[in-house]
Amino acid sequence: MRGAQAERNMASVDFTGGLMDAVTAQKYKHRLVLERQALLAQMDAQHGGRIGRVEVASESLDKSEDDNAQIQTGRDVAFAINEHETAALNAIAASLQRIKEGVYGLCLTCGTHIPIPRLDAAPHTQRCVACQTRFEQQTA
Ligand SMILES: [Zn+2]
Repeated sequence: MRGAQAERNMASVDFTGGLMDAVTAQKYKHRLVLERQALLAQMDAQHGGRIGRVEVASESLDKSEDDNAQIQTGRDVAFAINEHETAALNAIAASLQRIKEGVYGLCLTCGTHIPIPRLDAAPHTQRCVACQTRFEQQTA
């Protein structure tokens, strides 16, 4: 039964036409996983680095009530940096999900095929150039 179901799903995917083959999708999946690992490592390093520097800075000050404010500011900076990276992580997670669903490489907004060179340059790209430009203008 499950096999028949899977076959029907495959057929419907084929019907939408020209979707990325599994081998190619797998290649991007691998790159996305690596990208995510690198990003997480980078966030760890930055986070540790920032907090470390704040701690060093506060140690050189006289112990006072200012210490708490100082540390809080440092954390805010760390969070602000992470926010940018969190957005990238979300894009990677969304792309991995789209590979799983068999719709990777299609523009999230208009459904057109995202050019392969664009995916090669940034595997977590979720929109075609036109839609991405519009999206960035809206959010800017
Ligand atoms: Zn589009």
